[in-house]
Amino acid sequence: MLLQDKVAVITGAASARGLGFATARLFASQGAKVVIIDLDADASAAAASQLGAGHLGLAADVACEDQVNAAIAQALAWFGRIDVLVNNAGITQPIRLMDIKRENYDAVLDVSLRGTLLVSQAVIPTMRQQGAGSIVCISSVSAQRGGGIFGGPHYSAAKAGVLGLMKAMARELGPDNIRVNAIAPGLIQTDITAGKLSDEMRQSILAGIPLNRLGEAADIAGAALFLASPLSAYSTGITLDVNGGMLIH
Ligand code: NAD
Repeated sequence: MLLQDKVAVITGAASARGLGFATARLFASQGAKVVIIDLDADASAAAASQLGAGHLGLAADVACEDQVNAAIAQALAWFGRIDVLVNNAGITQPIRLMDIKRENYDAVLDVSLRGTLLVSQAVIPTMRQQGAGSIVCISSVSAQRGGGIFGGPHYSAAKAGVLGLMKAMARELGPDNIRVNAIAPGLIQTDITAGKLSDEMRQSILAGIPLNRLGEAADIAGAALFLASPLSAYSTGITLDVNGGMLIH
């Protein structure tokens, strides 16, 4: 069991087909106690209960400092420690450069980038006290190639910002034995793209993927487990590409 008795907070993990929930399920199967944080309290609680007994589902908007701090305080009151944080909550908008309005920019940057900062800030004092921790940030291939398949330029910018923030956190937190790494998923079949992928689009995307399939949520969960666990004990500040070879560079 790679995460026996570890407490893992995963944001945006209430969506049944999402990367966060798949990660929660894998972590729980490896002995972790999981804290799911998502927008809706009932959905978070229902997702946590699907993991088995002893997990926790909480509501918070990751872009709201007060809600984040309240949720982390609740998690600490419940479990007394936090070993792993997966900054997974994110939204995307498939719009083009000149159509980006302030509200689009704010919405997308707030969840991915501000959310990553705020939830990390909320758990770092505890990880420092414990003398150990692992933070995993979910970026996107969109950050690396300047636009993805669905995300607009503001999504690409938000996810590139996540990579910069991840690296800076890794430098600053290394001496505290807190590792910070990222995953850059390619196109993974979840609700974030549901209903927006025509057969034609799918074929043209597949033509650029050497492994010749779209990703599954479990592909990202496996990478998250590697980064969360001692298997990656000597890695910090790295980005794992999990994209079927879509971006070989
Ligand atoms: P999803 O839509 O299935 O799940 C996202 C979850 O985040 C949902 O449960 C949603 O309620 C939650 N959420 C949204 N805003 C929130 C907020 N303000 N506070 C708390 N929770 C919030 O999406 P997914 O595909 O599982 O995506 C997970 C992460 O992976 C996102 O950061 C996304 O950008 C990233 N990603 C996904 C893909 C892909 O192809 N699916 C590719 C690259 C990166």
